[in-house]
Amino acid sequence: MNTKYIFVTGGVVSSLGKGIIAASIGKLLQARGYKVTIQKFDPYINIDPGTLNPYEHGECYVTADGMETDLDLGHYERFTGIHTTRHNSITTGRIYKAVIDRERRGDYLGKTIQVVPHITDEIKRRMLREDVTEEELDFVITEVGGTIGDIESAPFMEAIRQLRWQLGRNAVCVHLTYVPYLKAADELKTKPTQHSVKELQGMGIQPDILVLRTERHLDDALRMKVASFCNVNLECVVQSEDLASIYEVPVSMQRQGLDAAILRKTGIPVGETPAMAPWHDFLEKQRCATRELHIGLVGKYDLQDAYKSIRESLNLAGVYNNVKVKLHFISSEEITEGNVAERLDGMAGIIICPGFGQRGIEGKIIAAEYTRTHDIPTFGICLGMQMMVVEFARNVLGYKDANSTEMNPDAAAGVIDLMEEQKSITQMGGTMRLGAYDCLLREGSRASEAYGGATEISERHRHRYEFNNQYKEEYEAAGMKCVGINPGTGLVEIVEMPTHSWYIGTQFHPEYSSTVLSPHPLFMSFVKHINTLTY
Ligand code: GLN
Repeated sequence: MNTKYIFVTGGVVSSLGKGIIAASIGKLLQARGYKVTIQKFDPYINIDPGTLNPYEHGECYVTADGMETDLDLGHYERFTGIHTTRHNSITTGRIYKAVIDRERRGDYLGKTIQVVPHITDEIKRRMLREDVTEEELDFVITEVGGTIGDIESAPFMEAIRQLRWQLGRNAVCVHLTYVPYLKAADELKTKPTQHSVKELQGMGIQPDILVLRTERHLDDALRMKVASFCNVNLECVVQSEDLASIYEVPVSMQRQGLDAAILRKTGIPVGETPAMAPWHDFLEKQRCATRELHIGLVGKYDLQDAYKSIRESLNLAGVYNNVKVKLHFISSEEITEGNVAERLDGMAGIIICPGFGQRGIEGKIIAAEYTRTHDIPTFGICLGMQMMVVEFARNVLGYKDANSTEMNPDAAAGVIDLMEEQKSITQMGGTMRLGAYDCLLREGSRASEAYGGATEISERHRHRYEFNNQYKEEYEAAGMKCVGINPGTGLVEIVEMPTHSWYIGTQFHPEYSSTVLSPHPLFMSFVKHINTLTY
């Protein structure tokens, strides 16, 4: 079968959940046995989102091959279980950089380099994944960031227009729009959708399928109206209502025949609807999990998307432990010795979040001390782990000014420090320790137990600073055990306190590899543990 290409665009407003729709399409096609990948094209100039403040675009998601990407790739992986790579996250910046590098090498032989055709050709090449050696794919789903009409996404739209022409039936355009409800008129309005489709048509793209985001159910008459105004078949007008969970979306899309419509458009026999039993089992568990478990996220970004994968990993682990995880953001900047007891009150467990820079770290250290001395289950991730290590040095090992040299380069006890190879790096983007690294687990440790007794694992990283091995013996002797070690470098990847009920810090980010059908073992162990404590 020839590879088919599905383009997912969005109109009217941003934040409609294009990523969830793209991930759902991927899931549904995968359930039919097709080999699928999902990629995201973002119109901004940054080479990757690695240098973006989480307040701008939410979490930076890291692929196993070490690319810093948009958080939508997290949805793709959680829904489908596929591993995305650096080829699945493209920005305008990367496109321009590739073209400009080629121009500087003289590859264009004196030609004038223009948006059309040079930039659009580069976009097309990547949409078709011409530079990727991989097993033949049945479907490539390409989500384009931003909203139709944005000046900056115009070259992407032009590339899609050309590809549709070139690929014929092997290309499908799915356009996501919004149908607002006007309370005063008690009416759902289709005009913004009509305008958005007109705008697409003006760029030479006729959408094949419309997905209408709505807070109210849309009846057939309304769908019919949209279909006839937009030149789309009625069965290709699908609605995406607000649902109790984003994981209900694929089922709702399947019920409305979104995947069948795609198959019909691309000339593939539709066949039987797959049962997706494990997915339905998960949803059933999720619906039944009503007992609440309160977990505190000690971090500095009071924004849902900033810790997206951690939130989802905890929710997923909750479902499999039959509880509804309720997450409470606790601003680390506001935590003091005086209020820590009150701030953490009522939390069955605490996550100390990742991050960069000075802001809020003393609060993380105070929280780590409080949970360590009160035996409250605690999971420190990346900077969170580093702050557990700093706290232990200050309050147990007696190094009063212990710190990470990221925060205090002159600390006498730099218990978290830069690796030699990092010291000469001056460029910011893509220069951290990124992507999956092997880790050997100490037999019998709580971490190894969480991984079902495994002693070799691989986890994704995103950091510059490391546990300083000069202090390792002191930590071990005083009760903080270094139970996860990178075999190549000897770097400490996991610390834990066996005398404590659940006190583990990981230098890596386990949240990047938790999926709906395969929740991460450390989150599972953490939630399971606090769940038994709260019964
Ligand atoms: N700022 C720390 C470092 O670079 C931790 C990074 C993180 O939490 N992702 O090492």
